[in-house]
Amino acid sequence: MPDTIYLDDAATTRMRPEVLDAMMPYLTEMYGNPSSIHSFGAQCNAACEKARKTIAGLINAKDNEIYFTSGGTESDNWAIKSVAYMKKDKGRHIITSAIEHHAVMETCEALIREGFEVTFVGVDEMGIIKMDDLRAAIRPDTVLISVIYANNEIGTIQPIREIGELARSKGVLFHTDAVQAFGHVPIDVEAEKIDMLSASAHKVNGPKGVGMLYMRNSARIPPMVHGGPHERRRRAGTLNVPGIVGFGKAAELAGAGMPENMAKVTAMRDYLIDRILAEIPHSRLNGDRVRRLPGNANISFRYIEGESMLMMVDMKGIAASTGSACASGSLDPSHVLLAIGLPHEIAHGSLRMTMSERTTKEELDYTVEALKEVVGKLRSMSPLYEDAVKNKEV
Ligand SMILES: *Cc1c(COP(=O)(O)O)cnc(C)c1O
Repeated sequence: MPDTIYLDDAATTRMRPEVLDAMMPYLTEMYGNPSSIHSFGAQCNAACEKARKTIAGLINAKDNEIYFTSGGTESDNWAIKSVAYMKKDKGRHIITSAIEHHAVMETCEALIREGFEVTFVGVDEMGIIKMDDLRAAIRPDTVLISVIYANNEIGTIQPIREIGELARSKGVLFHTDAVQAFGHVPIDVEAEKIDMLSASAHKVNGPKGVGMLYMRNSARIPPMVHGGPHERRRRAGTLNVPGIVGFGKAAELAGAGMPENMAKVTAMRDYLIDRILAEIPHSRLNGDRVRRLPGNANISFRYIEGESMLMMVDMKGIAASTGSACASGSLDPSHVLLAIGLPHEIAHGSLRMTMSERTTKEELDYTVEALKEVVGKLRSMSPLYEDAVKNKEV
């Protein structure tokens, strides 16, 4: 048993050794600027173009539709703000979902403060967007629909193709935050009619601080970062060559191993979910059982408080999360759990465990035993649980 059991892959992943190997030359002797004309630069440029091709191939995009950024947050900001500013004379209405990542949600909130209008379409109890409400929300002045591909807290995968078809039929641009989905499940921007897509290397066993925005050639939006002519004049700044090379390698490995990893991780996830639901009373799975990311298990335990649970499992060497890492430290329950209709007190007792192809059955067995102990201990100290026992609810 390793010292730490890492069940927080949705927050960030471990870089694969092959990724570091691919990056090393570009952190040492291959230090050229890819914009330089000399061969030093040209070699670095070629390495970035190879990564671009691999990444494009993974989502059925063209090479010249991939723009490297500093990560998922920048890609989300760029896509949403630039469409809003570019189209503001046509309309100032944006549609998104109630369960977006903070990078999309806060960007929309910032636009509201600038006078744009945003509709946050609700989801059903499984966390799937209400398609009828989405359809009804589209107005003549709607310029963008942005819906998360797969949710970072509860793992639900949205009906992206349906949303893409709807947006296309209405002449509205469609962006998806696919940071959790890219490299983990198959994505096809053509078949799914996606106009813009955000991805990040560190969620797919690549390095931190590098990501990309896919932008359909017909949907060209203006730059957000101004400067030199990099990235076909759309995202200025000297390319993060080692990061991009690492991202490319991570995408290559993710693509090659996808069917195998999906099957393996899904089996592990289901094993963990089944054992917890069977062995820990008053626990429930959040999110759709099937339309779900392979590695995501999000479970609410009644009568207890997620933060205490998180700290106690941490002392047993297990790294998990109560929701999104960004929300940790805040006492507000997750907006995602509230959006699927969980009452505050149940939403508070939730634990997100996200795993990878490295996760073993032994680690999950240890985790289940630890959870049984921690949940039992916390319930024995909980006034809520005491009341429930008195009222014969349990
Ligand atoms: C992690 C994450 C982001 C942010 O990506 P960074 O590269 O860390 O900026 C955005 N959206 C989702 C769904 C994420 O999981």
